[in-house]
Amino acid sequence: MERRSRRLERKDPFGRHPRLNRAGAEDAAELSALLGPGKVSVDEERIRTYSRDEVPPAAMGGPHPADLLVFPESAEEVAAVARYCHDRRIPITPRGAGTGLSGGAVPARGGVLLSFERMNRILEIDEANLCAVVEPGVVTAEIDRAAAARGLAYVGDPCSGDASFIGGNVAENAGGNKVVRYGATGAQILGLETVLPNGSLVRFGGKRRKDVTGYDFARLLAGSEGTLALIVRIILRLLPRPRRSAALLCPFRTLAEAVAFVPRIAREVRVIPTSAELMDRRAVALAERYLSTRFPHPEAGAHLILELEGNHREELADRVEAVGDLCLASGALEVYVAEDRTSRDRLWRARKSVGEAIGAFYSKFAKEDLVVPTSAVPELVEAVGEAAVRWGLDSVTYGHVGDGNLHVNLLADDLPEADRRLGEARRFLYGRTLELGGTLSGEHGIGLKRRRDAGLFLSPEERALIRRVKRAFDPAGILNPGKIVEGN
Ligand SMILES: Cc1cc2nc3c(=O)[nH]c(=O)nc-3n(C[C@H](O)[C@H](O)[C@H](O)COP(=O)(O)OP(=O)(O)OC[C@H]3O[C@@H](n4cnc5c(N)ncnc54)[C@H](O)[C@@H]3O)c2cc1C
Repeated sequence: MERRSRRLERKDPFGRHPRLNRAGAEDAAELSALLGPGKVSVDEERIRTYSRDEVPPAAMGGPHPADLLVFPESAEEVAAVARYCHDRRIPITPRGAGTGLSGGAVPARGGVLLSFERMNRILEIDEANLCAVVEPGVVTAEIDRAAAARGLAYVGDPCSGDASFIGGNVAENAGGNKVVRYGATGAQILGLETVLPNGSLVRFGGKRRKDVTGYDFARLLAGSEGTLALIVRIILRLLPRPRRSAALLCPFRTLAEAVAFVPRIAREVRVIPTSAELMDRRAVALAERYLSTRFPHPEAGAHLILELEGNHREELADRVEAVGDLCLASGALEVYVAEDRTSRDRLWRARKSVGEAIGAFYSKFAKEDLVVPTSAVPELVEAVGEAAVRWGLDSVTYGHVGDGNLHVNLLADDLPEADRRLGEARRFLYGRTLELGGTLSGEHGIGLKRRRDAGLFLSPEERALIRRVKRAFDPAGILNPGKIVEGN
């Protein structure tokens, strides 16, 4: 009898873990006694605000409020919360700044929402070892600012960097604007200190540059979306800060010319740009409307923003000239060079506003984060155009074209049968993405939002391995349940 009921549990189609419990008033009181005053909240309004990220709750089957919020201030307090919840099979969902775009920090099964906002100290900038030691609640951009004061750079640079936390970046393996040259957040991690779901404190990696002693758990945790361990301290590599940089704004006649141009920079100028970002015509129009600004060539099919770095005036000038000349010979209408901070910031502000502008002006859309090998970007862009025509939709495409990661948005406001059109167009795009050797998410993650679609992109073997790794870290299934794959 017993074996049979266990087998039935595994077949639960919603992947629910039947033994998880909700947290109640008694748990709030006990956790409060454990952590001290002011660190536990049961305020309903506050819980509602914290129990979501940037994905509208309606897109994930409605709100999923936690039962209570905790605000630990140290690794030991995080461990105490984990031990408490583990003993009582209460789910814990870790939360950074809540800027996620996949519902990762949404407490899908209720329980405790653990905010890292009070663990926000930069503990060390270690110039000798070129690294920073930080707590997970530090705002990403602050790390680079602290490094800059010592002539160093932290190169993780998501567009949300002024708001997101570094712990959230690690958990999502966040990408951003400099991946084309420096890699995503995972490539910046030297070591992690973590609290496992049973409350034990475990370190992975350290300040060393190499380490093949055992498995590379730090890399495994990068992108694990808070499902394997709570990250309580992070050691990040720093780099010497380039002395000079310039941003080029390059309007191209057509979108096709703009995307075909990007890989030629490395091949023909022999420089990897620090950033290579794309905004199609509609993305430019949205940024103009949202910021009440004007681009010099709004009629262009697409704009590229290219950022180049160098240590000497002549070195940077040579690079700017070589890339600019190649642009003009390849369909660019003009090349604008921004070297001073203010004009560069203005450019980046326009690029970073597109996602918010879509949310502000549209209510019915599909927001995708597709990634393909860089050589296949032109075909992905064609497929977006085809989907828009076939299903009568508008589309906005922008993003990190230099690393093959495009934020594709299909817009369906005011259209009849909007959901059917969006669903069919998305499935068509997923099919093309797979054929092109691409996948579902380049940087925003799976979370709750893409959990069902992930099955199309992960083989049964991979899904089974994900569940087994999850069970190895979290046999009780309490940490961020219901995320990434069904059954997690
Ligand atoms: C305007 C805008 C622009 C964006 N641009 C980019 C971009 O360029 N590149 C990019 O990659 N993303 C981008 N994002 C998405 C988002 O900012 C990133 O995913 C970011 O890494 C989330 O960080 P957060 O602190 O807000 O995490 P949250 O949203 O709070 O959480 C994200 C995930 O991390 C887990 N988590 C958080 N902290 C911890 C911890 N200490 N230990 C374990 N798990 C934890 C959560 O459970 C959740 O699964 C953008 C978002 C917005 C709104």
